[in-house]
Amino acid sequence: MITKRVRSLEYLASPLLDTPHGFSTRLGGVSGGHLSSLNLGCHRGDEDENLRENYRRFCAVLGAGTDSLVMTHQVHGTAVRAVTEADRKADVLDPTPFDADGLTTDRPDVTLVVFSADCVPILLYDPVRRAVGACHAGWRGTAGAIAGVTVAAMAERYGCRPGDIRAAIGPAIGPCCFETDDDVPQAMEAALGPIARPYMTRSGEKWHVDLKAIDRAVLLESGLAPEHIDVSGACTCCEHQRFWSHRHTGGLRGSQAAAIRMEAVG
Ligand SMILES: [Zn+2]
Repeated sequence: MITKRVRSLEYLASPLLDTPHGFSTRLGGVSGGHLSSLNLGCHRGDEDENLRENYRRFCAVLGAGTDSLVMTHQVHGTAVRAVTEADRKADVLDPTPFDADGLTTDRPDVTLVVFSADCVPILLYDPVRRAVGACHAGWRGTAGAIAGVTVAAMAERYGCRPGDIRAAIGPAIGPCCFETDDDVPQAMEAALGPIARPYMTRSGEKWHVDLKAIDRAVLLESGLAPEHIDVSGACTCCEHQRFWSHRHTGGLRGSQAAAIRMEAVG
């Protein structure tokens, strides 16, 4: 994962994904106060014009139109929705009409967006079938194998072969800061079995859980090649001055966006 800067805006991208995409940070926007400065969350109490300007800046670095965005209302589930031009928002403040934690498309000029602030954002790209996916994996979504469900949706809908798909797992809370009670490891174990086990460590009464590593294991289980998966080393909670972190702020925060689109051919 590499850090890119366009003027004050800083974002991350993966060399594995040869299509416009990016993981935003909190740097380079115009929002003020506790939303300073690149808040891309539509329901965080931001000023309308600040949010529009933040999206203008983020879309500009991706070469995407602000009228190409498709967003979803995330509910920590495992629903994945295939979207087209008809699902694009004319304005970022328009209501989001459906609940889902994953999006896929094979249409150019449709930019998929997922939000996070400690949860794991995952972007997928198939250069052969020319399709993209994006999903949001908190611990519930990770246990529900949302990353694998999104890969399966791309296979079913667009004929993607998992061996062709490239994945970028973005900045999220690391095992250093994601301390849990027994409920999280129990849910992981019940849902995923032994593949999650190496990434959950007991420490006294608590557990430290590496969500990004478990999402990577889910993608490997789905048939992705290890060399096709890029994982950000950044912890949003440790690096709370660079990223939005729900845990660090107690919830008074903006949101990161992870976005990807297919580039039109020719
Ligand atoms: Zn940390």
